[in-house]
Amino acid sequence: QAPDSSKAKRVLLLKPRGFCAGVVRAIDIVRIALETFGAPIYVRREIVHNRFVVNELAEKGAIFVEDIDQVPEGARVIYSAHGVSPAVRQHSKDRSLKVIDATCPLVTKVHVEAVKFAKQGYSLVLIGHRDHDEIEGTLGEAPDVTQVVSSVEEVQTLEVPDPERVAYLTQTTLSLDESRDIIHALKMKFPKIAGPHSQDICYATENRQVAVKNVAHNADLVLVVGSNNSSNSNRLVEVSRNLGTKGYLIDNSEAIDPEWLKGVSTVAVTAGASAPEILVEGVVSYLNAKGFGEVDEVEVMPENVRFGLPPEIVQAIQSAP
Ligand code: SF4
Repeated sequence: QAPDSSKAKRVLLLKPRGFCAGVVRAIDIVRIALETFGAPIYVRREIVHNRFVVNELAEKGAIFVEDIDQVPEGARVIYSAHGVSPAVRQHSKDRSLKVIDATCPLVTKVHVEAVKFAKQGYSLVLIGHRDHDEIEGTLGEAPDVTQVVSSVEEVQTLEVPDPERVAYLTQTTLSLDESRDIIHALKMKFPKIAGPHSQDICYATENRQVAVKNVAHNADLVLVVGSNNSSNSNRLVEVSRNLGTKGYLIDNSEAIDPEWLKGVSTVAVTAGASAPEILVEGVVSYLNAKGFGEVDEVEVMPENVRFGLPPEIVQAIQSAP
């Protein structure tokens, strides 16, 4: 259906959007570490998948590295919210690094499940994206018994030593619909497959997808603020497109192509779990300037999750002068 351009132009600002509890915690950890211990502080990989956040922390003295080898012996290193494999932990130990772990507790939950299933003799099927930092970390918990699948097609060609003893886990930031299909295909193929006690896709990923699902049919366009390596942000664009509403992933307002707004009267705006609110505000201001004067916040569900800081940081705060 063609959008009606005679309608008032408005913005629907989805809620919940943006930072999740794991991202708030990870950024706090880097900030507090910088304030308490002073720069430089090394961070393995992007602390969260957002360019703006990474640049801001880099300006304050965080040094982002790809690999533990790049951290000087004995220095302080922070693991990103996406988690690390036991091999990385060992590597840090070998280099006498002082580690601060910013892994999201909900990622740790999946690691714990992987270890538990592997100890019980299960083959593991890890549903997720092979090139994602989180999957690299989780896979590393039991690399000899774990296979990664990212589509229903891959399930068809999957082979395990004992189909009676297989378990699945998922990345925390997948599409709910896609992973449901993959889990269904796994259950068809391995009727006795075991799974996690509660789903591994985290509350923040789910809530942001549900919000887009609720609102996409009322919008002509969905703009998702997030970086292109952010898994949960990409999934929000897919959710919108799957419902037939145009959707784009944008790092900030500068990435908006004015062509997208032609004939559009309602723009829904949301943000991935690693995208700061200041960038959302920039997008809303841009849209205001383009004549989208009405801004309605649509709260689809409340969200009040907070995570505590890791003991290394709590101790550092307590012993600070
Ligand atoms: Fe944790 Fe979910 Fe946020 Fe990832 S998106 S950091 S799993 S709360």
